[in-house]
Amino acid sequence: MEFQKVMRVVSTLSGNEQLVNMDSMTHPNLSPWILESLRCPSCSGALDRFDDSFRCHNNECRASHPVVNGIPVLIDKKASIFSIDDILQDRKTFFPRASTGGLRSRLSKLIPTLSLNVRAEKNYESFAETLFAKCPAPRVLVLGGSIQGEGIRVLLRHATIELVETDVVLGPRTMLICDAHNIPFAGATFDGVVVQAVLEHVVDPYRCVQEIHRVLQSNGLVYAETPFMQQVHGGKYDFTRFTHVGHRRLFRDFDELESGAVCGPGMALAWAYEYFLLSWFRNPLARKFVRLFARVTAFYLKYFDYFLIDRPGAIDAASAYYFMGRKSPRPIEDRKLINTYKGLP
Ligand SMILES: [Zn+2]
Repeated sequence: MEFQKVMRVVSTLSGNEQLVNMDSMTHPNLSPWILESLRCPSCSGALDRFDDSFRCHNNECRASHPVVNGIPVLIDKKASIFSIDDILQDRKTFFPRASTGGLRSRLSKLIPTLSLNVRAEKNYESFAETLFAKCPAPRVLVLGGSIQGEGIRVLLRHATIELVETDVVLGPRTMLICDAHNIPFAGATFDGVVVQAVLEHVVDPYRCVQEIHRVLQSNGLVYAETPFMQQVHGGKYDFTRFTHVGHRRLFRDFDELESGAVCGPGMALAWAYEYFLLSWFRNPLARKFVRLFARVTAFYLKYFDYFLIDRPGAIDAASAYYFMGRKSPRPIEDRKLINTYKGLP
């Protein structure tokens, strides 16, 4: 049987016309409740569904949002730093392209990395347990879910948890493209939201957390992981770091269930060493070599984190923190916030 790709010119929100692959234009990944809950990212208006687009029903907006290979691209073109053209052309933003399985990438996989997430699996188990205490078939939004996040396989193992995996880029797991500053869902849609290694890459993390709060049901849960002592990664798409208390304030509209270090001081030291070495070199090939050299000579540092992760000193030196919380009607007061400090003054 011969498969023929159907190509069609699609008008993008930027007004340009793009030739895109129109195979499987029937939103195969999205169940009916997801389609019902979708809203316009520009004005929160209801959306009319077409095979090749979603169009805003609000007469004052009338934004048209394309569908690419069955994946809706629900981005507000005026507000987002990500352009729909980039997505339609599958242009590289800050994510590494999927591994091609070539010799170089296979060799690279043999060398241990500098990174180790000590707590994610345990935290996701606790998150799943808390979700199930809330309802038997929780609906969970994943922001930054184009690839499988560290430890999230724990949630994937539960068939009754329905994950809606979204990102600003197309990736192996992207079901829907959206920007966390304007989450294209009606309020109170989800039982849980996962935002892992994302909030450092958004221009306004406070706005994104407000959006997470909005799309959660009244006792909905959030699970976040955000870096503290990590050098710039993702080039120009890297904006902010938080201390542990700063991270707590970011989630001030939530009651804390658990929080702490998720990647420890060993990983932070390994990254600092790698970036110290990198700062001497400009040549891309030399920088590749330096990255490999750093991995070979410092990969072991991350294993100290198994011993350090729960020590109070690690709170002041962690590579990244996690926060698990429940949506609250009232924010924690700043005066009470400083009492949440868990480090060693
Ligand atoms: Zn609209």
